[in-house]
Amino acid sequence: MEQLKFVFHDGPIIVGAGPSGLAAAACLHRSGVPALLLERSDCIASLWQHRTYDRLKLHLPRQFCELPFLNFPNHFPKYPSKRQFVSYMEDYARRFSIQPEFKQTVLSARFDPATGLWRVQTPDSIYVSLWLIVATGENAEPVIPEIHGLRKFQGPVIHTSEYRSGSEFAKKKVLVVGCGNSGMEVSFDLFRHHASPSIVVRNSVHILPRETWGVSTFSLAMALLKWLPLKVVDKFLLLVANFTMGNTARLGLRRPKTGPLQLKNATGKSPVLDVGAFSLIKSGQIEVVEGVKEITKNGARFCDGQEREFDSIILATGYKSNVPTWLKGDDFFTKDGMPKTPFPCSWKGENGLYAVGFTRRGLLGTSSDAVNVAKDIADQWKKINNNKYSAKELKLDVLGKIRENF
Ligand SMILES: Cc1cc2nc3c(=O)[nH]c(=O)nc-3n(C[C@H](O)[C@H](O)[C@H](O)COP(=O)(O)OP(=O)(O)OC[C@H]3O[C@@H](n4cnc5c(N)ncnc54)[C@H](O)[C@@H]3O)c2cc1C
Repeated sequence: MEQLKFVFHDGPIIVGAGPSGLAAAACLHRSGVPALLLERSDCIASLWQHRTYDRLKLHLPRQFCELPFLNFPNHFPKYPSKRQFVSYMEDYARRFSIQPEFKQTVLSARFDPATGLWRVQTPDSIYVSLWLIVATGENAEPVIPEIHGLRKFQGPVIHTSEYRSGSEFAKKKVLVVGCGNSGMEVSFDLFRHHASPSIVVRNSVHILPRETWGVSTFSLAMALLKWLPLKVVDKFLLLVANFTMGNTARLGLRRPKTGPLQLKNATGKSPVLDVGAFSLIKSGQIEVVEGVKEITKNGARFCDGQEREFDSIILATGYKSNVPTWLKGDDFFTKDGMPKTPFPCSWKGENGLYAVGFTRRGLLGTSSDAVNVAKDIADQWKKINNNKYSAKELKLDVLGKIRENF
């Protein structure tokens, strides 16, 4: 067996080089703290580069998606495309001299009380540091639900993380399972590429116009929240939605009893911001179907007893955090891999453990976490350096202790 490389890092170790990891590294860099980023993939922002569809644009307007200390270029549109967002992040990494270690999947990370250090293991190395920043994201792994009979289906079954474009599905009957933002957008894209999409709406869903009277609905909600309670803003959003979209329940899109923002806060479930699917549903070009009872060899049987044939199935069933699979012996995260303490206190754990990007508030939450985490670590970093306990001494001391326990 090949010997593991042993690396002591003076500054924090960040796991994940998506927007959250990059934002944390940039904020630390500005405070003079060197961060080491470990990324399982071969590039930064791998979710955006490798696991999203071609037509994807930011769901939220640009001003809510910028990372700290660097604005989007002026020529970017209101909703930048995924290519633009990736190029922004590449610039961001260059600007703050961020060079992650790629192909370093973190297999385990554990705090060692004897040394006061985090020990982070990848397939070929053990990294050690005083601080561990978890930035592996809320969307680390696709969720593949247990649907009775799914394995029997003879056509292709893919998760939206593998879906690139509807061009591969032209003239096909496609069942899209899941009616969140991805399910709606994929159905829209399929229709645009001459496929016949049917979207499964098992539960209730809040669908809102992306723009209201030329203003982004999200911006409007954010502005109103400065003055009004959440419940009132929810009422306003529903009023607007009913006015512009009518009674969506008639089309099979029942609204939850809880308002869209309250629901997002309580469960993390985002309302759908419509980019065009709704008018296709209204005109019957995207069909809404009931919950699936079982998948058959050639199609699906639905809860209302109907049976239909499909050529392909696309699972728009979301993502989940993978933190519990690799972070060991801590009780900061729930079994679902989200911090137990809700926003705005979800960024700091015990013993030098931090989390960036687990706020259910998208990139806005990421930025706020990154700034908080960097400030907290930079304060400790300064104390260590002011005590003249140099990184070299710390390293020698620490290495000795670790080797004793190794
Ligand atoms: C289709 C889609 C559209 C979205 N649109 C928006 C939007 O418009 N606005 C918005 O604010 N948010 C949006 N989001 C949410 C979006 O996921 C986040 O805002 C953003 O990507 C989160 O960044 P992150 O760095 O926290 O997580 P990620 O982007 O998922 O990055 C995490 C990184 O960690 C790496 N990693 C995971 N596990 C390990 C491991 N064990 N070892 C090493 N590395 C690991 C991954 O490879 C990945 O590169 C969207 C999400 C999706 C899926």
